Amino acid sequence: MIPYGRQDINQADIEAVVEVLRSDFLTQGPAVPAFEEAVANYCGAKHAVAVNSATSALHIACLALGVGKGDVVWTTPITFVASANCAMYCGATVDFVDIDPRTYNLSVDRLAKKLAQAEKMGDLPKVIIPVHLCGQSCDMTGIHALSQQYGFRIIEDASHAVGGRYQGDPIGTCQYSDITVFSFHPVKIITTGEGGMALTNDTHLARELRLFRSHGITSDAAVMHPRAPDELWNYQQTDLGFNYRMTDIHAALGLSQMQRLDDFVAKRRSIAKRYDELLADMPVVTPWQHLDSYSSFHLYVIRLKLGQINMTHRQVYETLRADGIFVNLHYIPVYRQPYYEQMGFKVGYCAQAEQYYSEAISIPIYPGLTEAQQSHVIDSLISALSSRPG
Ligand SMILES: *Cc1c(COP(=O)(O)O)cnc(C)c1O
Repeated sequence: MIPYGRQDINQADIEAVVEVLRSDFLTQGPAVPAFEEAVANYCGAKHAVAVNSATSALHIACLALGVGKGDVVWTTPITFVASANCAMYCGATVDFVDIDPRTYNLSVDRLAKKLAQAEKMGDLPKVIIPVHLCGQSCDMTGIHALSQQYGFRIIEDASHAVGGRYQGDPIGTCQYSDITVFSFHPVKIITTGEGGMALTNDTHLARELRLFRSHGITSDAAVMHPRAPDELWNYQQTDLGFNYRMTDIHAALGLSQMQRLDDFVAKRRSIAKRYDELLADMPVVTPWQHLDSYSSFHLYVIRLKLGQINMTHRQVYETLRADGIFVNLHYIPVYRQPYYEQMGFKVGYCAQAEQYYSEAISIPIYPGLTEAQQSHVIDSLISALSSRPG
């Protein structure tokens, strides 16, 4: 079975984890800040806060930006549900901006139109969460310019995109956003098993993120509430936080993986290039890349030209699966999920997202995918696309 994505673990990774297991600290030790510093330095961001998942990072990013009841958060429908759920955790409402038909990322044109409309209605969003789908950055200068005009804050969901670049700079610089979030789930670019991180250049936001990560407890005397001297101890709970901490075991794996981040991305890009070449004349749309983008290629999504083939979307998907190729669909539009449909979202709400959803298939891409395995994927796909009506 060939999955659509999987981790790459070497002996150095294993030794890094074992070293922590033999050390004094399994959690709240030195490996977490070391991993945070490595990622912050790589990305050129001032602060990095490691947590136990990107979902947790998105949640505390919303909280740090003050998202709460009565607020509105916008994201793209073509994303993992966590990009929208984080706003629901905070009691806010969620809405969706349709995608750009070339990049499949949140469309800045659609965003501009929707903002103008929302301004008239008096329900502008507090936060927008662009998602760098497959590892290709959104048009961040465009989104940032609109944030200046309309006064919303920006959380980049870069779960797919660590190691990628935008206009030559690493994704995660937070040059055009308040906070950037990464995921370290095993299918993502580097892994900690489960894990995530929130990056920011804002010292206040970094403090809030750390507070929400660990129960809302602080040991910083400067922010503790005034108390009589004999009522001041080494910690105080000033807010309602969570236990979203990353362990040192996970952080050690992440720190070790960081050393191969650039190699992982280079390998993914070379696999993507081979797909581009070998599928060029097939009835599929291969991933279009913006000149500003250097994608980490977390996913390689093809769109079927259904008018030119004899199989349905589902038949191509099932044929590949029957051939041992565990293809996937990234993603069902979030508002089509039953949980979101209950809120009144209707089929067809975002036309471009629906069109994408009816044609997209993610084919395998990960550093350990061998040339022979990739050839098997291509052969199986070509035979499905060329099948005669029967
Ligand atoms: C994977 C993913 C997440 C959630 O990541 P976890 O670390 O599994 O919580 C969020 N957003 C997107 C776009 C993702 O792909």
